[in-house]
Amino acid sequence: MPARILNGNQIREEIYIDLRQEIAKLRAAGIIPGLAAILVGENAASKVYVTSKIQACETLGLNSFLITPPNTISTNELKAIVKDLNGRNEVDAILVQLPLPKQVDAKEILDTVDPTKDVDGFHPINVGKLVAGRPNLVACTPLGIMEILRRSNIPIEGAEAAVIGRSDIVGKPIALLLMHANATVTICHSKTRDLPATARRADIVVAAMGRPAMITSDYIREGATVIDVGTNRITNPAEAERIFKKFPERLKKFQEKGSALVGDVHPDVVEVAGAITPSPGGVGPLTIAMLMSNTVRAATLRRANPKVQQ
Ligand code: NAP
Repeated sequence: MPARILNGNQIREEIYIDLRQEIAKLRAAGIIPGLAAILVGENAASKVYVTSKIQACETLGLNSFLITPPNTISTNELKAIVKDLNGRNEVDAILVQLPLPKQVDAKEILDTVDPTKDVDGFHPINVGKLVAGRPNLVACTPLGIMEILRRSNIPIEGAEAAVIGRSDIVGKPIALLLMHANATVTICHSKTRDLPATARRADIVVAAMGRPAMITSDYIREGATVIDVGTNRITNPAEAERIFKKFPERLKKFQEKGSALVGDVHPDVVEVAGAITPSPGGVGPLTIAMLMSNTVRAATLRRANPKVQQ
């Protein structure tokens, strides 16, 4: 039986219903949460991401501020912009779209963001709080994965989870969130020995490697839940034919466009998994939803309830 599809767009709408109520309460108290996005230079993919984040603010009635410094900006100049946003009361949330140009020290910039406005959850203070089991603002993609699991009633407590990928923005924080939710977590990476056997032990597999369709059915135990974080654009026709062999509709779309988005999980895994997030349309929509949620949370903690802060 094919897997249950965990539809990210549908779960995002459920989250927006809850968020709208919180936003209405804040508005009644005279507070409109505000997100400032810094988009440096002309990176096309970054522009698309930031545009959809600003659009999400508009959909929910949040304020947004877009700052677009040139690609030639220095670390010190960008730090000055972040410090200015740190000091502005109408800005509750600051996001610095990555990647930054080579001459900019990204770590220094992220460390400059006020931790109470750090809606990406990248500041060492927020990472430390997550490690300590006192999460405040947590990275959006891992938070979104937890929402998918919880709202789809996937049992986490006592489950074996394999997280494939150990990046600071996905792998490490999702491993910590799953551990705090009482899963038994194995963190895998490029040096893991016999990855298929390790992944096959898991009830929940989170794939976040940035390797198109790498996780094939032999990595997945029958009935396991598979969360596909990967979003990879493929342009090679032979690769598309191999990946979409059993999905003629997707192959046809690839041939029309000359490219397609695929996850880190092979589409055939739908035949063995118990539940699976599609890519696109699974984790992606939740990342933006959790950015909105973190913006509202930051505003609530800092402005409506300042004593709870940090
Ligand atoms: P990243 O920083 O490049 O990290 C990749 C991780 O995967 C590393 O830990 C690496 O191991 C591991 N890895 C690479 N090849 C591997 C292999 N053959 N076997 C086992 N592990 C392997 O990537 P990321 O930023 O976490 O992103 C991962 C994917 O998620 C990308 O496709 C990205 O586009 C996507 N993503 C999607 C969203 C969303 O909203 N949907 C958000 C963020 C990221 P080592 O540490 O040993 O090098």
